[in-house]
Amino acid sequence: MKKHNFSAGPSILPQEVLLKASHAVMDFNNEGLSLLEISHRSKAFVDVMENARALVLELLGLEGKGYKALFLQGGASTQFLMVAMNLLEKRAGYLNTGTWSKKAIKEAKMLDDIYEVASSESANFNYIPKGYDIPEDYDYFHCTSNNTIFGTQIKEFPNSPIPMVCDMSSDIFSRVLDFSKFDLIYAGAQKNMGPAGTTLVVIKEDILGKVSRKIPSIMDYKLHISNGSMYNTPPVFAVYTSMLTLEWIKSLGGIAAVEKLNEKKANVMYSEIDLNPLFKGFATKEDRSIMNATFTLENENLKETFETMLKEAGISGLNGHRSVGGYRASMYNALPIESVKTLVEVMSELESKA
Ligand SMILES: *Cc1c(COP(=O)(O)O)cnc(C)c1O
Repeated sequence: MKKHNFSAGPSILPQEVLLKASHAVMDFNNEGLSLLEISHRSKAFVDVMENARALVLELLGLEGKGYKALFLQGGASTQFLMVAMNLLEKRAGYLNTGTWSKKAIKEAKMLDDIYEVASSESANFNYIPKGYDIPEDYDYFHCTSNNTIFGTQIKEFPNSPIPMVCDMSSDIFSRVLDFSKFDLIYAGAQKNMGPAGTTLVVIKEDILGKVSRKIPSIMDYKLHISNGSMYNTPPVFAVYTSMLTLEWIKSLGGIAAVEKLNEKKANVMYSEIDLNPLFKGFATKEDRSIMNATFTLENENLKETFETMLKEAGISGLNGHRSVGGYRASMYNALPIESVKTLVEVMSELESKA
């Protein structure tokens, strides 16, 4: 039986995407060869790459606006360094909202000076700082749209006077934003798009070519763009599966339609967290994420009973990250609302038992 999958990442993918992807592993396009055993330079695969790149720009509303989409390797963690390599000349401003922001800052610091425009670290990252200033003479401003571990999410982005770079690993394609406010967006595939192994990078081309350092080939966005995201062998399975997910999003009616479903799921989840006295939400209400809901059980004595009930209900992947503790319900695009309802039923059943 398929479990209710609340895993934070790698995470749930649409059933129809998994089905099509598994077929392609055995027989791609009914051509008698596996997707995994054909040349990445074959027309069949180049079409996949081009379709995936085009779908990204279409879904984000960035077609014809000077953006390019790339599917790279090395995870979002490689982007922490690559962003700085390509954009950092003298100084950059970073918003510190959690573990992933800190890691991005650490990598950029290897190259140059970093200024933290604001941080919520002293409150264990349970909120999103607001009302900070972004210095106009810096190279870029970096933020993390959704803090996967802490369950906070930026609801309103600043009007940045300098290029805005955003790590959207855990909420890409989950809600409508004016994506043209961003000059560079990156996201590891394994949270809301596909299997681990590829990282989406969307870049406004005109921000490139402004640093004086020499950039190693594999780290150079310009080179990846001029090679159509095929500078070296791309992770074919991860790109193909991501393409299937993008097609799935389009078939549902695009990001706006998916966002409505995500809001419904988050409402069901947070209503229970707010109303059930046994549980306590971790993140500040106004900043809480529609993707990752973090909460704790007030009475530790009920832990075993609750976890047995979760197991019996077929609920998987609910353990919180060690830096927060408790539980984390990751409600990515592909998670059906029925899974959230099942979880909420278990939570209210626990209340009636206690
Ligand atoms: C998971 C995650 C990362 C790390 O991604 P990798 O692909 O494992 O390097 C970075 N940022 C955010 C916001 C994440 O959720």
